[in-house]
Amino acid sequence: MSILDISVPLNENTPTWPGSPGVRVRRYKRLEDGNDCNNSCLECDLHAGTHVDAPSHFLRHGPTVDKLSLGVLIGPAFVVDMGDIKRITAQDLDQCVRFSGVKRLLLKTSNSEIWRKGVREFKKDFVALAADAARWVVDRGDIALIGVDYLSVQCYADGPETHRILLEGGLIIVEGLNLAGVSPGAYEFICLPIALSGVEGAPARAVLRTPEACRTDCRNSMGDGERQ
Ligand SMILES: [Zn+2]
Repeated sequence: MSILDISVPLNENTPTWPGSPGVRVRRYKRLEDGNDCNNSCLECDLHAGTHVDAPSHFLRHGPTVDKLSLGVLIGPAFVVDMGDIKRITAQDLDQCVRFSGVKRLLLKTSNSEIWRKGVREFKKDFVALAADAARWVVDRGDIALIGVDYLSVQCYADGPETHRILLEGGLIIVEGLNLAGVSPGAYEFICLPIALSGVEGAPARAVLRTPEACRTDCRNSMGDGERQ
């Protein structure tokens, strides 16, 4: 398959952080009731499912999600398999990320199995980055976006350091990716948070395109151009 949907389905069964209002969809007009259309509204924790964190999530004067660079949210990315590591440290990243010049780094961990199995309850023992791993990412200087495969980039019991280090370092954080079945390697990453104004995060649809798909699309569109 040339386009891999790495988003988590958003519905009332989507696991959310303890204390979160979660996700609620309400149908307020129904065809069955004699209306001429169906209409629904959504009440949703902005950090439910696949979503993007903006700096204002943890930084008082940080930019909001509508101010994030689309140029960073779209482009070449590398998926790295972190195996069964339970807490990602700087040393782990040093061993697993063996290349330079990658602007978008997506970390696949055992968390993706939680999505694959469709576990409904929130898992507190998810894999995330220790503060020294966040520092490692920022100090590299070439990474502008980091993606993780559960609902937070920092471990459940940790303080806010991991988020703060990454956001102060200017990185965009994408959380709640489902990388089950995705092989490690290079892809084109496309992640578009909905255009909510003035808030600290937003749900997003995220996909990967394989390098072959990018090349084929390019060839096809160039072919169309020649025929015109
Ligand atoms: Zn978040």
